[in-house]
Amino acid sequence: ARTPLIAGNWKMNLDHLQSIAFVQKLAWSLKDAKHDYSAVEAVVFPPFTDLRSVQTLLDADKLQLGLGAQDLSAHDSGAYTGEISGAFLAKLDVTYVIVGHSERRTLHAEDDEVVAAKVAAAHRSGLVPVVCVGETAADLEEHGPSAVPVAQLKAALAQTPAGADIVVAYEPVWAIGSGTAATAEQAEQVCAALRDALREVHGAESAGATRILYGGSVKASNIAAFMREPNVDGALVGGASLDVDGFASIVRFPS
Ligand code: 13P
Repeated sequence: ARTPLIAGNWKMNLDHLQSIAFVQKLAWSLKDAKHDYSAVEAVVFPPFTDLRSVQTLLDADKLQLGLGAQDLSAHDSGAYTGEISGAFLAKLDVTYVIVGHSERRTLHAEDDEVVAAKVAAAHRSGLVPVVCVGETAADLEEHGPSAVPVAQLKAALAQTPAGADIVVAYEPVWAIGSGTAATAEQAEQVCAALRDALREVHGAESAGATRILYGGSVKASNIAAFMREPNVDGALVGGASLDVDGFASIVRFPS
């Protein structure tokens, strides 16, 4: 049984003061609703400059919300101005780190090789990479639904041994921030193909244990449909993760 994971990628939103207010409200809302974190894991992915504030709050109030970062350097230390190492994130009790988000791939020219190096860097620091893959509308037309995400996943895992802890996020680029999510059937088709690819590369046990998330215009009104699909184990939520009540209801999708 894979524990569902609801991940909120804040992108470049909410400064460190706003992050404290947000996380307090979110934790209270989930506590009021008696949310069972062992039934649905909930993780926020704030900007780097918020991480210390959120860590302090989670620690002081013994909150069960998880903490993730949005990116990391492929390098461990050294002359890389502006970069953040996996070791820095681990020191802040960060558990997860997003790698290969489509915005990094397109706006920061991260190719499959960089993504694979970042997955390896995350593992060296004991972080769980949330490996993002997804096709553009043009890819979809040219190659069909699964070819590009599957190729991206295989490339991202090139340096990763079987059994290494990863989360996969299928985020069709055409659905991100568009307001139009993939259908649950579309998401299931690609997530199933991604699980087949994991089985091929890392074996059945690893593939069966790995969570595969869907991302792209997920909101409170469509989360339940995605979660009914056998190969969708959670969601990577962008815009809708910036609203406390909206995000709390996505986390509470079973109720
Ligand atoms: P939206 O939920 O805003 O479409 O963003 C999805 C995403 O990119 C999460 O990483």
